[in-house]
Amino acid sequence: MHELSLAQSMVEDIVAAARREGADRIVRIRLVVGALSGVDADAFEFAFPVAAEGTPAAGADLRIREVPLAVHCRDCGATTSPDPLLCRCETCGSAAVDVTAGRELKVEALEIHVPVG
Ligand SMILES: [Zn+2]
Repeated sequence: MHELSLAQSMVEDIVAAARREGADRIVRIRLVVGALSGVDADAFEFAFPVAAEGTPAAGADLRIREVPLAVHCRDCGATTSPDPLLCRCETCGSAAVDVTAGRELKVEALEIHVPVG
């Protein structure tokens, strides 16, 4: 399962980042998943607790924000949100488009718990 290995490497990164801040556990994670990122948000949500088990990220509240594909057309200048499989301008049908959103796969925000003292 593709999403499980992704979730595992993301948990490693998050735990390493949280430890640098002196945190003992991770409370909340906000993840951004673009339509072109190749990650299935539902599968990732399912894989995450498995990957986080036994780490400081176990039990963290995972929120996934899905970002739809957005393309800017070089022919007509329109910005549209076509089907990721077609990836053409919805206004004029041109394939000369630049992807402006939808490739994201990143942690947008991390809430950690730092022990006092
Ligand atoms: Zn166009």
